[in-house]
Amino acid sequence: MVGEFDLPLDIIDRKVTKMKMISPSNVAVDIGQTLKPHEYIGMVRREVLDAYLRERAEKNGASVINGLFLKMDFPRNNKEPYVLYYTEYDNKKGGMGEKRRLEVDAVIGADGANSRVAKSINAGDYDYAIAFQERVRIPDEKMIYYENLAEMYVGDDVSPDFYGWVFPKCDHVAVGTGTVTHKGDIKKFQLATRNRAKDKILGGKIIRVEAHPIPEHPRPRRLSGRVALVGDAAGYVTKCSGEGIYFAAKSGRMCAEAIVEGSEQGKRMIDEGDLRKYLEKWDKTYWPTYKVLDVLQKVFYRSNPAREAFVEMCADEYVQKMTFDSYLYKKVVPGNPLDDLKLAVNTIGSLVRANALRKEMEKLRV
Ligand SMILES: Cc1cc2nc3c(=O)[nH]c(=O)nc-3n(C[C@H](O)[C@H](O)[C@H](O)COP(=O)(O)OP(=O)(O)OC[C@H]3O[C@@H](n4cnc5c(N)ncnc54)[C@H](O)[C@@H]3O)c2cc1C
Repeated sequence: MVGEFDLPLDIIDRKVTKMKMISPSNVAVDIGQTLKPHEYIGMVRREVLDAYLRERAEKNGASVINGLFLKMDFPRNNKEPYVLYYTEYDNKKGGMGEKRRLEVDAVIGADGANSRVAKSINAGDYDYAIAFQERVRIPDEKMIYYENLAEMYVGDDVSPDFYGWVFPKCDHVAVGTGTVTHKGDIKKFQLATRNRAKDKILGGKIIRVEAHPIPEHPRPRRLSGRVALVGDAAGYVTKCSGEGIYFAAKSGRMCAEAIVEGSEQGKRMIDEGDLRKYLEKWDKTYWPTYKVLDVLQKVFYRSNPAREAFVEMCADEYVQKMTFDSYLYKKVVPGNPLDDLKLAVNTIGSLVRANALRKEMEKLRV
């Protein structure tokens, strides 16, 4: 994303080159050993990244309005504009804001998981996870451990279907977790995540708490007339990693490119067919990535024995290389057939062991 979107390096808080994957029984495997010297996972704070992107858009000619979109009127034909109704906030009227309207040729709904643009076009719902995150300022000497290291915890305690994390930011760490199936228990999972990392974050102070829905799959409809959805509004977060920032930026760019091309640089009115090109390109490029990660999540996040197997597999250099290549370059990277075969055998081995372990544990419970 840094290269593709030409982001300055000073907005990146930390360059993570070591990722610890920690199993339910606290077996830790270091992944990241196959990274090349220039490769890293960039850690940003959204308030910094978003502000940078907004200011750059403004410098490049966008009119930025601090407003809350409320609803829209639809055109009766392909010549009329859409009319958007919104409250504009200019920081002068004690936060009350002023009702405004705006006529536009096309709408890109980039308004996140609770998208009102999606509701306006009856885009339908998606399953969603709740992600919960606390920013914790920890003593400087503890921060040294997290200098270029992130942690992922798996286990029934931290999440029944996702993972808990400790990600380093500028002068603090973000500790969080997520779940689709047991949303009401999110605070219990968060406490367990904090507990698992407790020695490393001891003495930390919570400076910010964040919680938000994360879509599990694309909405039934992502397009209607000259309105298209991108990012979380469309439902573009990958399973397994819960990653959505790159996909939000990329889908926004792809959609904008379709509008520029379809309108011949603003000389003609676009139609639904022009926007459909964005959706077709998107699905063709990313469908395999979403599918592979969906299957991985279903296989490996379903029980503690399967998670032990998952962490065991992560020790394999080939798995690490495939995972990081796919993660860093946002593509399911084709593998080497011989190594793929070895991986398949190892995976089956790990899962068989996991299953045997599960049976033994069930016997113990009886
Ligand atoms: C706790 C947590 C941790 C996460 N960690 C990661 C991570 O490590 N890596 C990663 O890649 N992804 C992560 N994600 C997912 C990622 O945050 C989202 O996928 C991403 O932010 C989607 O970007 P977006 O622009 O589509 O939506 P958002 O980031 O939700 O942005 C939507 C914007 O629209 C604005 N908006 C909403 N409604 C209106 C309205 N009516 N009028 C005007 N404006 C409106 C909002 O204020 C917001 O600025 C995480 C999510 C959570 C909740």
